[in-house]
Amino acid sequence: MSEQNNSAYSDLLRMLEKAAHLLGLPKTEYDFLLEPERELKVAFPLTFDDGHVEIISGYRTQHSSVLGPFKGGVRYFEGATSDEVNTLAALMTYKCALSNLPYGGAKGGVRIDPRRLSRSELERLTRIYTERVIPIIGPQKDIMAPDMNTNSQVMGWIVDEYSRFTGQYCPEIVTGKPIELGGSLGRVQATGFGVFRLTRNVLEKYGRELRGTRVAVQGMGNVGATAAQYLHAEGAVVVAVSDISCGLYCSSGLNIPEIIEHIHSGGGRPRLLADYPADGVIRIGAKDPLFADVDVIIPAAMENQIDAPEAQNVQAKFVVEAANGPTTYDGTEALLKRDIVVMPDILCNAGGVIVSYFEWVQNLQRLSWSETEVRDRLMGMMDSAFAATWDLAREYSTDMRTAAMMVALKRLVAANKLRGMYR
Ligand code: NAD
Repeated sequence: MSEQNNSAYSDLLRMLEKAAHLLGLPKTEYDFLLEPERELKVAFPLTFDDGHVEIISGYRTQHSSVLGPFKGGVRYFEGATSDEVNTLAALMTYKCALSNLPYGGAKGGVRIDPRRLSRSELERLTRIYTERVIPIIGPQKDIMAPDMNTNSQVMGWIVDEYSRFTGQYCPEIVTGKPIELGGSLGRVQATGFGVFRLTRNVLEKYGRELRGTRVAVQGMGNVGATAAQYLHAEGAVVVAVSDISCGLYCSSGLNIPEIIEHIHSGGGRPRLLADYPADGVIRIGAKDPLFADVDVIIPAAMENQIDAPEAQNVQAKFVVEAANGPTTYDGTEALLKRDIVVMPDILCNAGGVIVSYFEWVQNLQRLSWSETEVRDRLMGMMDSAFAATWDLAREYSTDMRTAAMMVALKRLVAANKLRGMYR
């Protein structure tokens, strides 16, 4: 992966090597993780409603299948690159291993700004992308899910396209589907709920209470808004939030339910915070929540938000990573030097893939679990991953990101040895 020097992927390799070094693993034991097993690049014409045609490109990367079929979301993002998709696919490998799920890691991306698309253009795009990746996906091969700018409706179209192709109804080809198509209760809230749960867990370890804790959230999408909602409901004071348009700040705490109602009032599309009435709130920049005078920041927008220079401006004691890869390698090192606790993405945002796994299991068995059953199982798995990471961090006197990587790496290396792949 030489062309990916100085990239997010090479950052991830540095984290991997740090974890492997602490575990005393020689490179020959983890070299199967250095590059993705398979990278697919696709391109296809998309006809817009006005008749003009554009060639759209997309990706699907399958990083590792050592622990099971590939699993990972697909995002629609105009800045999507193969480096980004490869990094996110590798993160999925470690995330699934850390949560003890029988999955490998994958990720997909389509280079498009979906805000440009009508509903019918979005459906066409989804169907053609699905058709292009069909040779490498399958309910026992690679299972997709929503990610940035994709949602349950997009998953519904993928189910339909894949089922037409195979000639049989196959809801288990994706997770994060609408409930009516076999989606799991609790899936939509799972990632944000998990972020809330781990914020609570880590505060508890440091002898702090959630009630009264000051929090700021960058990115009020599915994950950020859900986490903010639970935190607010449990007594945390959410003083700053943002989306791509701007941020909102109120030192005594924002009215989170009202803000979420505003976001949902866009008729199917999220309504921007720039349109939120300014009474009683101060408008700030989209990135400013990361530097707010709070106890906890939750980056929940996208990757590479905190590099070493930004890390100097973080005022919080805890960084709870809800987005994938929001802190670079150098950013993490700079935060750790300042004694800031970094709760890593592969631990904090695993709620989504855990409930995705539950959805897949329910689909395969043609069963459906109650929301309470889903929630209880989710809490159990997240608490176990947290405890395994916390304990290893103490045992090796290291930080939570390195420890999370170490837990995942130990499981991957053990499975790889037992499978005896190519050795
Ligand atoms: P989403 O599309 O629902 O929301 C993204 C939010 O971030 C939106 O509010 C958007 O306006 C905002 N945003 C985008 N760029 C921004 C910027 N530069 N500054 C401030 N805000 C910005 O996406 P999501 O599903 O909530 O995912 C958010 C992150 O969480 C992504 O990194 C995703 O990979 C990760 N994640 C999501 C899930 C899931 O279940 N949805 C699971 C694991 C990880």
